[in-house]
Amino acid sequence: MARGEIVINQNNCRGCGYCQAFCKRGCIVMSEDKFNLLGYILPILADSDRCNACGVCGQMCPHFAIEVCKFIEN
Ligand code: SF4
Ligand code: SF4
Repeated sequence: MARGEIVINQNNCRGCGYCQAFCKRGCIVMSEDKFNLLGYILPILADSDRCNACGVCGQMCPHFAIEVCKFIEN
């Protein structure tokens, strides 16, 4: 099974929360105290073990702030 990891470009993020809303595996949560330089609240990958690199979060981000990395386990 593929495992995933996401990289969030903090400067591009606008704190909309779409990534959290659309991750069906519940990997992403909006932080309560982490903001970017523009003052937007940032998402964090709270449970990377559950990420299967589906790519939905990256596709739904309106600001192209998420890169999804996919790892294949042997
Ligand atoms: S790649 Fe898929 S499973 Fe991983 S955080 Fe994004 S939406 Fe969730
Ligand atoms: S969808 Fe994109 S802009 Fe919105 S909170 Fe997630 S990373 Fe930030």
